[in-house]
Amino acid sequence: MLPDDRERTPAMPTETIEFQAEARQLLQLMIHSIYATKDVFLRELVSNSSDALDKLRLASFQDKDLDVDVSDLHIALRLDREARTLTVRDNGIGMSRDEVVGLIGTIARSGSAEMLGRLRQARESGAASEEASAELIGQFGVGFYSSFMVADRVEMVTRAAGSATGVRWESAGEGTYTVADAPDAEQGTTITLHLKPADAEDGLHDYADPHVVRGVVKRYSDFITWPIRMAPDGGEGEPEAVNSRKALWSRPQSDVSDEEYTEFYRHVSHDWREPLETIRLAAEGTFEYQALLFLPARAPMDLFLRDSRRGVQLYVKRVFVMDDCEALVPEYLRFVKGVVDAADLSLNVSREILQQDRQIQLIRRRLVKKVLAAIRTLLDTDPERYATFWSELGRAVKEGLLSDHDNRQAILEICSFPSTHDVERPTTLRDYVARMPEGQDAAYYMTGASRAALEGSPHMEAFRAKGYEVLLLTDPVDEVWVDAVPDFNGKPLTSIASGEVDLGGDELDEETREGFEALLAWLATVLGDEVKEVRLSHRLTTSAACLVGDPGDLTPTLEKMYRAMGQEPPKVKRILELNPRSPLVTGLRRAHARRPDDPDLRGIAELLHGTALLAEGGELAEPAAFAATLAAQLEKALSRV
Ligand code: ADP
Repeated sequence: MLPDDRERTPAMPTETIEFQAEARQLLQLMIHSIYATKDVFLRELVSNSSDALDKLRLASFQDKDLDVDVSDLHIALRLDREARTLTVRDNGIGMSRDEVVGLIGTIARSGSAEMLGRLRQARESGAASEEASAELIGQFGVGFYSSFMVADRVEMVTRAAGSATGVRWESAGEGTYTVADAPDAEQGTTITLHLKPADAEDGLHDYADPHVVRGVVKRYSDFITWPIRMAPDGGEGEPEAVNSRKALWSRPQSDVSDEEYTEFYRHVSHDWREPLETIRLAAEGTFEYQALLFLPARAPMDLFLRDSRRGVQLYVKRVFVMDDCEALVPEYLRFVKGVVDAADLSLNVSREILQQDRQIQLIRRRLVKKVLAAIRTLLDTDPERYATFWSELGRAVKEGLLSDHDNRQAILEICSFPSTHDVERPTTLRDYVARMPEGQDAAYYMTGASRAALEGSPHMEAFRAKGYEVLLLTDPVDEVWVDAVPDFNGKPLTSIASGEVDLGGDELDEETREGFEALLAWLATVLGDEVKEVRLSHRLTTSAACLVGDPGDLTPTLEKMYRAMGQEPPKVKRILELNPRSPLVTGLRRAHARRPDDPDLRGIAELLHGTALLAEGGELAEPAAFAATLAAQLEKALSRV
């Protein structure tokens, strides 16, 4: 912008604007305070200031024409005990009027509506609501609004880099805020909190007391790489930095305490919990880099939203370059948070160029291996924490079975799946294979909507009778990766609902086979619209019939998923398998041999097919027609009583 813009832009009047509905809800939660300790507000403001300084430094590197002073970037805290104010000022990137309205007055983060919906539910459901709220807000990142936990009025004056005039924002956190021009605003952002009276019982400390404020900064923001300056008396004295400013990832591992890691994790992740695991890696020599990564203890709220963010920031020699650096982590590890600091990259590097950069590709490869190894170590040494991790994030990790061919084996090793072996605990494939009895030469699984549906499915019968364990795969992603992974350590992964199973043992004799030929041929014609083949089964012990697919066929669950996404899947005909020992099947054979043209037989054939579908948890194409056929047959049966 030109310096004389000020003359040309007519002054905007003070505007009073309503907070967006979601923003208002979040503010209310903040004001009615959900945190036992209010100290975190300062961490949030300092964190925002630090980001603003990062952004300005980067902008000045990337845009030589940008007229900004970056010689003394810092954060300053000023306290006024008389007026009971605390001011947080940074000379960072600042915000334009539109940004103030768009960023501060609204919540644009993906998933926010859903999160607030859940929050409302949690609060309505009573007892655990405080904690549930804290939990959900935590997922969200508390942010700027947390100022209203400690202040009853907040003023913000900000001027965007390169802009001639600034903006003054003010609110009591109720329903509205005001924005006005601030022609004399300094570069950056100044936030003044008009503090509520201290209330020790409520966790509200005296934030006009320099001693308190210094303690809070040390505790939560020590690692911030910009100086956080404060006068010894909080007010007029000579200001000095209160934080030690060392990038955690460049300090020796043994020097960094768990608390420091936790606070840093909160800074990069916007999560308020402790990280589940901290991972460090470094390389020296030609490609020098350091990384500090975290596994979260909970799935981030946007994990399965379309444009969920990847959590790794890229730095070049301590200088922040970008958030959500997708070149550094594959999508299936999008929940990994942290920092990679590379030595030999240009600060001007774009996302597109990064994708091609050889050094970045090397880092990414090592990072993936290291993360997978860390999960493996959790599995081997700390089953409880591994179980937490897996139940929260396993669904994402399994996507890697499809997309990361190079690391497939390592991913298979850290997966665990529910199985018929143990109702409570999922099993790893390694443990599954170790339990396989003599004679079992494949690892068996079935995919479907729920454990109950799978356990009750007719396909399970012969496996249960044999004592063969079956993996019960109920995540949508399971439907897809199973087709891409042929085996685990040489044991074929085999669906019990597809292909021919050969469980050995009693072969059907020739005579039995021949005896069924006519019935099978007739059923294949009668049910020709629904099934592509009718054959005798080895997998049934009690049920009369079941439906199976050929390997690679669309499964019923996948069909349902297609429909849920609004697509019409190609119609897949499955194979009807009959149990030659079932009285229903032998009875049908006898009836068909005796009176092949009896009109009732057709109805019974349809019922046989429909019940097989229902037993596996499937859906009938025409439920009403099925019900009518069933009613007609029941009436006949009753008339014979
Ligand atoms: P979050 O920091 O979690 O994104 P906030 O509500 O704290 O959410 O802030 C919203 C946005 O407002 C930030 O993402 C940033 O773009 C902007 N912002 C906040 N504080 C500052 C600041 N001190 N300087 C510049 N921009 C800021």
